Amino acid sequence: MTRTFRPLSNGQLLDLAGTLSVLDPATEEVLARVADCTQQVLDATVQAAQAAFESWRHTTQAERRERVEALAARLKEHADELALLLTREQGRPLAMAKAEVLGCVQWLRAFAQMELPVTERTDKAGMTWTTRRVPLGVVAAIAPWNFPLMLACWKLAPALMAGNTVIVKPSPFTPLTTLRMGELAADLFPAGVVNVLCGGDALGPRMTSHPGIAKVAFTGSTATGRRVMASAAPTLKHVTLELGGNDAAIVMPDVDVPKTARKLFMGAFLNSGQVCVAAKRIYVHDAIYEAFAQAFAAAAKAAPMGAGTQEGVMLGPVQNRPQYERVKELIAATRDAGHSFLAGGDVPEGPGYFIPPTVVDNPPDDARVVVEEPFGPIVPLLRFSDVDEVVRRANDSEFGLGGSVWSGDVAQAKAIGARLETGTVWINSVQLLDPLSPFAGRKQSGIGVENGIEGLLEFTAVQTMVG
Ligand code: NAD
Repeated sequence: MTRTFRPLSNGQLLDLAGTLSVLDPATEEVLARVADCTQQVLDATVQAAQAAFESWRHTTQAERRERVEALAARLKEHADELALLLTREQGRPLAMAKAEVLGCVQWLRAFAQMELPVTERTDKAGMTWTTRRVPLGVVAAIAPWNFPLMLACWKLAPALMAGNTVIVKPSPFTPLTTLRMGELAADLFPAGVVNVLCGGDALGPRMTSHPGIAKVAFTGSTATGRRVMASAAPTLKHVTLELGGNDAAIVMPDVDVPKTARKLFMGAFLNSGQVCVAAKRIYVHDAIYEAFAQAFAAAAKAAPMGAGTQEGVMLGPVQNRPQYERVKELIAATRDAGHSFLAGGDVPEGPGYFIPPTVVDNPPDDARVVVEEPFGPIVPLLRFSDVDEVVRRANDSEFGLGGSVWSGDVAQAKAIGARLETGTVWINSVQLLDPLSPFAGRKQSGIGVENGIEGLLEFTAVQTMVG
C-alpha cells in the first residue's frame, strides 16, 4: 500500500515518520507504516483538546448532532473504501468489514438523536432542584483490534454528544481504518474536538495516566483493563472498561438441532472467534448432544477459510501473531491433555495466521479451553443433563459479559437466562447489539456501561442546582 496514514491532532494531519509496521494478517506483508506518537505529541494533543473543550462544551445538542451526523454521512460515503482497508488490516471477510463500517454509521446516528436528561423538582420550602448532565473534559477512547472502528465509534459518538473532546487511540495492530476516519473527520469538527493518535505499547499507559485527560473509555482484555484502572487511579479519572468474556450458550433438548447448530456455529466463529460476546462454551443437553455435535462439526468443516478479500470466504485469519501463537498453544495444550477434536485441531503452515475452526468434544469443566477466554477459532461443546447444574456451570466463571439460551420454549429460556450472571442474555440468538440498549460486563468483564442512554451518561458528570 503506497498511501500514508497520518494522526489527527488539533485539526492537523501530522506528517510524522512511519516507524510502526502494520501487517496484513492473511499474508504477513507490511501494509503500511504509521507513526509512534511521542509524549510530546500526546501533550500537545491533550492541550489542544482541553482548549477545544472550552467552546465545544457550550455547544447545543443540535450543533453536536449536526456534526456527528455529518461524520456518519462521511463514513457511509466512504464505506467501501473503509471496509476494504479494514479487511486488509483486520483479516475479516469484506462483507463483514462493510457491516462494521455501516454499524459505525448506525451508532453515530443513534447517539446523535439522544438527549441529555434534565430533571427538576420543587421541595416543600419552594426550592427548585435541577439536575443536569455536564461534560467531563478530554476523553481517551482506547480500542482493541477485533472491531477497531466500531469500538472506537461506540466511544466517540457518546463522548461528543455529551460535549467532551476526544482522543481516539486504536490498537497498534489495526490503526489504519481509524486513522482514515480521523482524516475524514478533520474538516467536520472544530480543531481539537476529535483527535486520533496511534502509537506503540507506551501510548496507552501515557494516556491513562495523563493529568489532562478526564475519562478513559476502554475496550480490551481484562488484564489490560486492570492496568488501565490502576493507572487512572492517581488522577481519579472516570473509567469505563469493556473487557473479556467467556459466554456460555445453553442448548435445551427441544431446539431445531440443525438450525441451532448453524446459528451457534456463526455465534462462536464469526470474526474467527475474536468477538468479546462470541459463544465460547456451548452446553448441549445430553438428549441431543450427538446430533448437535455432528451438525456443528459439519458446519466447521465446511466453512471456507481464506483472505478476507477473497470471494466466498467465511473465516479470515486470526488478526495478529501473538494471538495466533496463543491460540495454537491452547490447541496443543488441549490435545496434550487428551481431549478430542470434532473438527480442526491442525494448523497449516503460514504465511498468514490461519487456524481452522476447532471444536473440542466435551472436555472437563476445568480444562483450559473451558476456563480461559481463547479469543480465537476454538470452542468446546459440553454435555449437561439438568438445568440447575448447567446454570451453576455457566455461572462458574470469572467473566460475566453475555450468554445465550436456546429452546423451543421461549418462556422457559427466559427463566433460565434470568439466572445467568451476565450483562446481556440472548434467547435463540447471540451477539445482537443495539445502540439504544445498554451493554455492560459483570464480574471481571468490566465496569460501567456502553450504549443506550446509560452509555451516554457515562460521559457526563451530574450538576444539581438548588435555588
Ligand atoms: P488489549 O487489552 O491488549 O488492548 C486493547 C487496547 O489497549 C489497545 O489499543 C492497546 O494498545 C491498549 N493498551 C494495551 N496496554 C495498555 C495499557 N497498559 N494502558 C492503556 N492501554 C493499553 O486487548 P486486545 O488484545 O486488543 O483485544 C482483545 C480483548 O478485548 C479480548 O479479551 C476481548 O474479549 C476484549 N474485548 C472486549 C469487548 C467488550 O466490549 N467487552 C469488545 C471487544 C473486545
